[in-house]
Amino acid sequence: MTVTEKEIELTLGTTNAGKLKEFLAMAQEFHLKLNCHLAPPGFDPEETGSTFEENALIKAKAAASLTGQLSLADDSGLTVEALNGRPGIYSARYAPGTDADRRTKLLKELADVPAGKRQAAFVCALALVSADGQVLFSRQVEWPGEIAFQEKGEHGFGFDPIFVPEGHTLTAAQLSPAVKNQISHRGVAFQQLLSYLAGQS
Ligand code: IMP
Repeated sequence: MTVTEKEIELTLGTTNAGKLKEFLAMAQEFHLKLNCHLAPPGFDPEETGSTFEENALIKAKAAASLTGQLSLADDSGLTVEALNGRPGIYSARYAPGTDADRRTKLLKELADVPAGKRQAAFVCALALVSADGQVLFSRQVEWPGEIAFQEKGEHGFGFDPIFVPEGHTLTAAQLSPAVKNQISHRGVAFQQLLSYLAGQS
């Protein structure tokens, strides 16, 4: 792995401080010196894309044009085979209310879907654009698994308590955050991006 002293200045196309913290923690493992900022308050570009990749690009380009800096954005969600890929890019808005309300709705929708037919995948798209809006890196990573019949686990967020990753018997919410980051859609996509950045610097 490349060890670099050069600092990379980067805007994240989000106002979510949790995403910044998660990204910086992963960057540390790559010995990358990042001067990372959140997008300015009020940053909320319309996500008009029809894919995760398009929406990640929209957010990264919007951040670059606003700040004139190298910008990174992600878009993620859950696709469920028995629902023809729903909720997909609309995962955060799948049902009004809380993450728990959205999990309850999904379990209800899948109530009659038997074991073996509950395949799903978490998807994460990442886009990095230059200060002048050129696409430098765009990647989509899927984390396959299936939807459980009931919630288990206390870690994570969103659909984690009802998602059992392929090759596991525990839900994503039963995995420690460190283990989840090693293998999840977002963790793997970030690792690939950080390898790219480390190779550039
Ligand atoms: P966004 O990428 O912040 O727009 O979030 C998309 C939505 O997808 C979240 O609100 C969650 O419902 C779901 N999601 C994305 N990644 C994960 C994950 O790692 N665990 C659980 N739910 C997730």
